[in-house]
Amino acid sequence: MKPFYITTTLPYVNSDPHFGFAVEIIRADIIARWKRELGHEVFFNTGTDEHGIKIYRKATEQGIDPQTYVDGFSKQFRVLRELLDLSWNNFVRTTDPHHIAAAEKFWTIVNERGYIYKKFYSIKYCVGCELEKTDSELVDGKCPIHPTYELELINEENYFFKASAFQAQLLELYKRPLVLPDSRLGEVRAFVERGVEDFSISRLASKMPWGVPVPNDPAQVMYVWFDALVSYLSAIGWPENTTSFEKWWPAVQYCGKDNLRQQSAMWQSMLAAAGLPFSEKIIINGFIVSDGKKMSKSIGNVISPADVVAEFGVDAVRYYVARRVSPFEDSDVTMDKIRDAFNADLANGLGNLVSRTIKMAATYGVTVSREHWAEVEMNLKASSAYAEYAGHLDSYNIQLASDVIWNDITKLDIFIQEKKPFIKVKTDPEGAKADLVYVLDALWGIAVYLRPIMPSTSEKIAESLRTMSLAEGLFPRKDVKK
Ligand SMILES: [Zn+2]
Repeated sequence: MKPFYITTTLPYVNSDPHFGFAVEIIRADIIARWKRELGHEVFFNTGTDEHGIKIYRKATEQGIDPQTYVDGFSKQFRVLRELLDLSWNNFVRTTDPHHIAAAEKFWTIVNERGYIYKKFYSIKYCVGCELEKTDSELVDGKCPIHPTYELELINEENYFFKASAFQAQLLELYKRPLVLPDSRLGEVRAFVERGVEDFSISRLASKMPWGVPVPNDPAQVMYVWFDALVSYLSAIGWPENTTSFEKWWPAVQYCGKDNLRQQSAMWQSMLAAAGLPFSEKIIINGFIVSDGKKMSKSIGNVISPADVVAEFGVDAVRYYVARRVSPFEDSDVTMDKIRDAFNADLANGLGNLVSRTIKMAATYGVTVSREHWAEVEMNLKASSAYAEYAGHLDSYNIQLASDVIWNDITKLDIFIQEKKPFIKVKTDPEGAKADLVYVLDALWGIAVYLRPIMPSTSEKIAESLRTMSLAEGLFPRKDVKK
């Protein structure tokens, strides 16, 4: 089986982990667990992007050196592993010495292949995006994503990357479904068709020292994107560990829609310039807003992943991300919406179904052997429902895969209402037991389906079925708090 490499974007460490990144990394975790379930060896990478002018200024404002500043933030991202029950096996930091050496090697290769040159230039720059902005991208003279930032004029001699050399190769690349969803592939294709321009990939160290030094030119440091994107390679041991690189590359990359061009055009042309294969797949997430607005401290609508876990538990967050957040488009998330979903789908839905079925089965003396569960699982995996679920996960549509599970839950609720085993048991105890075994088997199936999506819930359901007694802590109902 083909080894599988999946990576999130590396969040920029200028603020605490936000809900949008929790969505991205939970999705990547679900896909990583799914591939392991199928038997693939999986490399699941995340980490932190730690260079650039925005970080340099924030650290300077706080009177601390940038390394201390990024060390503190990087830790806040590492705690997501336990908080959100994530299974990454690598965490790369762009200030790691190995990554810095890889970025320098990448630069050297691209330079030797003739795709780097030096020139004087002048641009408008959004420090929020750490990107150049052309006039056509501006709204009221400002970056539409960062309307509170003033655009800055950069006027200096820097190194340029000859991205224009790769327009034809990119258009050829977009003939395969590199980007998901299709609409985003169309968007980046149209962008590249309009023309690809060379862009600056360095800054004067005298103005902005917080970056990877340009090889053989200590007066310049690398542009933050040029260094950060190389982390997808350095994470798997590139350049010196060629065995590891050849085993894992190319990667499946998750990112937000504000990363579409950087990941599917800029990064792909950088790979071509270095003579390396393109990425396998780029999955574009929508934005998360709250009550129709971008989350912000000043509005007071920020939902932190830690707050949601504290209130509802980790699997409630994973459920919400899997089933209630649009797989590719923008979604509106509020604590009330999470609470409603928790009560309806988890406490009253799944939790109630498991608890009353197990209680009836225990009371009526239903016993099931371990061999039985193995057989149930084998039959499940041969079923058309499982094929449907697997197909959705294979195409990264976690929402549709989750719908398969909750459709089952609805059907089982109806089955119990119609068969009424709690009444039948008085006149036909064997018939009632048979009805319950039917539901128990389906619950084992649900536990199997939930393994990648809600691992700890999956295990609690399986344990309840093995012991025919309810495992602790399966979604106690949360009363409405306003
Ligand atoms: Zn911006």
